[in-house]
Parts: sequence; structure tokens; C-alpha cells
Amino acid sequence: MPLANMQRPGFECALPEAADVVIVGGGIAGVAAALFLAEAGIDVVLCEKGFVAGEQSSRNWGWVRQMGRDPAELPLTMESLDLWRDLDRRFGIDTGFRETGITYVCRTKAEIAEFTAWEKHARQAGMPSQLLDAAGLQNVLPGISAPYTVGLYTANDGRAEPEQAVPQMAGAAVRLGARIAENCAVRGIETAAGRVSGVVTEHGTIATSSVVVAAGAWSRLFLGNLGLAFPQLKILGTAARIETAATVPDMPVGGGDFSFRRRLDGGYTIAQRNANVAPVTPDSFRLFFDFLPTLLTSWRELKLRVGSQFFTELKMPRRWSLDSKTPFEAIRTLDPAPHMPFNENALKNLKRAFPAFAGARLTHSWAGMIDATPDAIPVIGPIDAVPGLYLSSGFSGHGFGSGPGAGRLMAELVRNEKPCVDPAPFRYERFSTKHAKTA
Ligand SMILES: Cc1cc2nc3c(=O)[nH]c(=O)nc-3n(C[C@H](O)[C@H](O)[C@H](O)COP(=O)(O)OP(=O)(O)OC[C@H]3O[C@@H](n4cnc5c(N)ncnc54)[C@H](O)[C@@H]3O)c2cc1C
Repeated sequence: MPLANMQRPGFECALPEAADVVIVGGGIAGVAAALFLAEAGIDVVLCEKGFVAGEQSSRNWGWVRQMGRDPAELPLTMESLDLWRDLDRRFGIDTGFRETGITYVCRTKAEIAEFTAWEKHARQAGMPSQLLDAAGLQNVLPGISAPYTVGLYTANDGRAEPEQAVPQMAGAAVRLGARIAENCAVRGIETAAGRVSGVVTEHGTIATSSVVVAAGAWSRLFLGNLGLAFPQLKILGTAARIETAATVPDMPVGGGDFSFRRRLDGGYTIAQRNANVAPVTPDSFRLFFDFLPTLLTSWRELKLRVGSQFFTELKMPRRWSLDSKTPFEAIRTLDPAPHMPFNENALKNLKRAFPAFAGARLTHSWAGMIDATPDAIPVIGPIDAVPGLYLSSGFSGHGFGSGPGAGRLMAELVRNEKPCVDPAPFRYERFSTKHAKTA
């Protein structure tokens, strides 16, 4: 559920005149980077235009998963899982992480072929993923209905509580010396001789030589004002909470048209898997050719929608001066309306797959804007054109699980330390020169 509906800790601080590192954005990418930088004794300030985890980072399903990841991303997600297992002990927090395992259940030939191929790949990568036959599946998920005859099970995947994990990590960062300012939009970046020299916020300027942009779905707009093009589109992800007396296994489960995760508050977060709304916006046209290959392979999962967002974004300035109000102050928290047919279908499909959910009912519905890149892999690293500027964004719907790993990697890159994983797949410059250079 979005944190806006819940009790949440507040983070405020007097803005310092200078800091070693300033982070733009208080989602998991920014907070995890702040946490590892603060742990290393770096003087770090994080500015969040709304409140910590107000956007994607509290709205996600809470899956912490290596299974099904792009091979280029696997080392980072495996590193991230190792971190999740130890975060609570290491920082004295409660993220709600549980190593429950995750299972994908398959019933179509295409799904079975996809997961059979992935299992081979997982074996090579040293992951304990196992393909289960019908009997094995009943053993792991008793009560699953008959059409599901194959499963892909990864025993060391897990889940955590999105609404609590990121605020808890932010609290730990503050205890380690980080400063976090909510309701503090960053308007832009100042440079001197081509290098980062400071950030301008709505409440004043902070001198710094390193800025990490972790602005989620806003990163493209933010970088655009600097003349840097970041190919990123927004996709609407919808989810719901249900209440039920059913007792089903503790692990998150995904079928072709449903998913569920048990929550620590006693309910379940559910969603219709492989179903998202792609709002048509001016960027859809600007980035049409970048995203065309993705559109061709996943058009079945995307429902294109022409609506008010087109005009909201059309009217939004793409360039501004740093002494006037910016779009980040106009929209403090992106809180899109959920696409209710997806939630209704998710519950219907779930009841069909697991009759134990027969009496379940929807209690809450919400949505979040997923920030997608053309290759569905994030950027985590420096932007070479502007020394001192770093980007951690474009997590394409799976940044909650890989957030701690991304935070650690970013902290290492900023400190010029040996990175925990090869950062090459995450380079900003992998996008065409058209994007890497100033527009
Ligand atoms: C419905 C849904 C389900 C998902 N399920 C999963 C899942 O099960 N597992 C998984 O791994 N991932 C999942 N994801 C994806 C995951 O939530 C995201 O990848 C991750 O949270 C991204 O984190 P972030 O920090 O990059 O962005 P965000 O959490 O969006 O944070 C960015 C922050 O930057 C702030 N900001 C922007 N511009 C400025 C500015 N100029 N100044 C100050 N602050 C600024 C914003 O207010 C925002 O708080 C899901 C996402 C959605 C929407």
C-alpha cells in the first residue's frame, strides 16, 4: 500500500552549506546508496521532494527475486540478496525480509519452455533454481489446481515489506550520520569548469563535488534540464491487498496471469502478472524507436492508454531555471490511479489457481509508475559527460530486490573503490551516442 495511507516516520534536517555527496531521491536506490555511504563515513545528504519511499519503493509487490533476471543483472541481484539476508542484523533494523523461496507456476507450453531454458542458465550461474514436475509442485505448493503441471522454484529468493523496509533503511542511514530532508525538491545541478559543483534545492544550495541522481520515474526529466538524454518511459503497475482466511505457503508465487505475496500484516499483495498500462505521453513518440523492440516482444503485456497524462506531461516544462519553481515541487508524490480491471482479474485468476483463496476479498488497490529503460536494465554509475554526476535509475520494475546491491555498488563507484560486481552492464553510455551526449 502506498505509504501516504499509513503512519510513517518523518525525515527533516537543516540543509548544510556543503556535503561530500548529495543524493536526489529517497526511494530504495537513493536510500541504499546513502546507507552504504554513511556506513563508510562519507558526509552524505539526501533530498526527497515528497517523502521517503513515497513513490515506487513503497508500492511494489515486495518480491526479492533473482529468478528470471537478465543474465547481465544476475551478479547484482545475487549480491543484493546476500545483503538483504544481513541488512536487519547489520543495521539493527526490521525490513520484514524473509528467505521464503519463490515459485513460478506454468501451464502453457511457452511458459514451460521459457522456464526450462532459464533453469539451465541458473544452474550455470550457481543458483539453486529447480524445475518441478506436477508432483514436485504439489509438494511445494499443496492445493494448486491441476492445470499447473510445472514450476520453477528458487529456494533462496525471498520477500520483504516495501512500506517498512526503505524507511527503516533511511532511519539507519541517519543514525550513521546521513542527513535526509523530505519536502525538499532538487531543482538542478550547478557545474564549474564542467564538473559538478553543487545542487540547487527549493530550500537553498549545497556545495558538493558528487551528486547521485536516484529520482525514479523523474530521472529523465531531471537530466533533460542538464541537456542529458536518458531514454526512460513510465509504465503503470497496479496491485492490491486482499484479506483471506486461507492458509497457503509462505512464499511469493507467480502464474502467467496472477501473483501473490504473503504480507506481515496478515493480508496478501496480489497483482495480475504480465499486465501493465503504458500511458501514451509525448515521450512515447520521442522514444518510439528506442522502445520499439520491447514493444514488439511484450505488446501482449501492455495496455496502451491515451488519457490525461499525455496533457499533464505535454504542459510540463522540460527546461527551467534554477531560481523558479520546478515540476518536482508541483507534484510532490506521483500517486496514479490503479487500473481496477487488472486487480479484479488478478483475484479471479488467483482463486482459479488456488481454490483456498475462494473467500478472499480486495481491501486496498494502488498503483505506481515504473521507470523503464529500453533494455530493462538500470543505469548505475557515472555520467562521463559531467564529472561528479552519477545516475542510479531505470530499474524497470525490479529495483526493490536489487536496491541494496545497487546502493552498495553506487557507494563504491562514488568512493572510487573496487566494485562488488562488474558495473559495465549498467553504464549510462551504453545507450546510443544520441542519448549519452547533451541534447
Ligand atoms: C506495482 C509495482 C510492483 C513492483 N514490484 C516489484 C517487486 O516485487 N520487486 C522488485 O524488485 N521491484 C518491484 N517494483 C519496482 C520497484 O518498486 C522499483 O524498481 C524501485 O522501487 C525503484 O526505486 P527508485 O529509488 O529508483 O525509485 P522510487 O522509489 O520511485 O524513488 C524515486 C524518488 O525520487 C524522488 N524525486 C524525484 N525527483 C526528485 C527531485 N528533483 N528532488 C528530490 N526528490 C526527487 C521521488 O519523489 C521518489 O520518492 C515494482 C514497482 C511497482 C510500481
